[in-house]
Amino acid sequence: MTAKTLGRNLEILEKYRKYADVAELRVDCLDPDERLLIRRFPEQAGIPIILTIRRDTDGGLFVGGEGARISLMARGLAYAEADRRRNFAYLDIEEDLNVSSLEEAARTFGTRIIRSYHNIKGTDADLPMRIRSMRRSGDEIVKVAVMANSTRDVLELLCAGKECEGHEKILISMGHFGVYSRILSEQFGSLFSYSGALSEPDALPAAPGQIEVRELANLYHFRNITKATKIYGVTGYPLKATSSPSFFNTVFELEGSNAVYVPFPADSITDLIDIAKELNVEGISVTVPYKEAIIPFLDFQSDEVGVIGACNTLTLTPQGWLGTNTDARGFSDSLLRFLNKPNFKRQRVTVIGAGGAARSVVFELHRLGAKVLILNRTIHKARRLAAPYKFSWGGLDEQGIEKMEKYRDIIIQTTSAGMEGINPDNLSDDPAAMYNFCGREEVMDLVYKPKMTAFLKRASNAGCNVLNGFDMLIRQARYQYTQFTGKEFPEHFLSRVQFGEF
Ligand code: NAP
Repeated sequence: MTAKTLGRNLEILEKYRKYADVAELRVDCLDPDERLLIRRFPEQAGIPIILTIRRDTDGGLFVGGEGARISLMARGLAYAEADRRRNFAYLDIEEDLNVSSLEEAARTFGTRIIRSYHNIKGTDADLPMRIRSMRRSGDEIVKVAVMANSTRDVLELLCAGKECEGHEKILISMGHFGVYSRILSEQFGSLFSYSGALSEPDALPAAPGQIEVRELANLYHFRNITKATKIYGVTGYPLKATSSPSFFNTVFELEGSNAVYVPFPADSITDLIDIAKELNVEGISVTVPYKEAIIPFLDFQSDEVGVIGACNTLTLTPQGWLGTNTDARGFSDSLLRFLNKPNFKRQRVTVIGAGGAARSVVFELHRLGAKVLILNRTIHKARRLAAPYKFSWGGLDEQGIEKMEKYRDIIIQTTSAGMEGINPDNLSDDPAAMYNFCGREEVMDLVYKPKMTAFLKRASNAGCNVLNGFDMLIRQARYQYTQFTGKEFPEHFLSRVQFGEF
């Protein structure tokens, strides 16, 4: 709770009470006068409260001296009552703060000490030793919250937690890379996950990477996650926007599966695979830019992955990681349904892009009889992709665009150019800006966020029929569900599946 007054914190607590087992009162976020009135807060709140006064150097708002901070903590503990529900349940004391009288007072009246360490800049190298040595008596809970600047940082924290199994602790990888440490806190060996009422205008995120409390409860079903929960997820970079957690978690909930699907943003696919092993992840959806880079990590693969050279689905089997590709069928199912055709025979098609997604698209176009031109910014990649199929190729330049005249029954945009979050400085990216639509082309863009890319908008304005990548996404996710679970997708749930975004 990070509002400026106690009254407002109580209001917020009332609204979100059903999502919280314990609440942390961040006294450093209170107005100075309010800070003097904290003693009665636990009784008013009616749930166990953590008393925390975070220094600015640890990511908090407290800028006074240590003397003032200690006397505020003492104020919170003063006049302890026999009925423990009227006292603070926990007191957060940083590992470098040594005030034995405060600790003694807390212990005497049943207030448990959370011994905390924060590093808002990075992840320390000596985490296992730190976790072991922080606890000063057996009843303390160790809290380590460190900034993850990479996937390796999250791996370090996860492994450190495993080395220190058995100790009561809270381990948090702060920031975007560590977002799943807040969902899979059970697997990280944490007693609590910290969340916030972040949709309230005056509730600041108490730390980078925090997930909104309703999202944690309703999207990830946090309270149902146990050591027995099957874990699935999606990896990519930067992975700023994905509908997949919403899709899979809704289906898991509707069918009553003890499973969760989380985002795994990763700057290194090698480290992500190590994390997946540590967490016993059973299935991973692979997205931009790892669909090709993942192949060396597969223990075996479907024939399609071999031919396409791109994999978007990893499933853990007794023989190791199986790589499959559900983009290919997702794409052709979606486009053929849109065109109301059984195949692509006699269709002359331009594919823009030659990355992982384009490989799946070209494979399907060939399988289903199309004649294809592939245009890519990096021209040699277009040539390499076209060669085995004996398709035409070119660059995204004047010459390449000219060739499109003969391949324009269907135009398929497969680059990440118009995708939100990929090119934040240039959202209106149109990879084929030199091409003039005549209005008779059928045009598909694999991008689904935004719904209308600059490219698709231009096609639509020229009178073309246009389709974005959302239907393909859902179709390939259904195949992915079958791959992960070994079951047919429960089609009757489809209308109830929500597509929020993490
Ligand atoms: P990728 O393997 O990283 O390939 C990226 C492709 O985009 C390359 O051809 C790259 O050209 C090109 N590119 C990137 N920025 C560009 C720019 N500014 N101008 C021109 N070309 C540019 O990525 P991917 O896995 O193929 O994914 C590509 C897109 O497809 C993403 O937006 C992804 O979300 C979407 N997708 C959608 C679905 C779905 O279900 N709807 C499924 C798969 C993929 P260079 O070779 O020159 O770098």
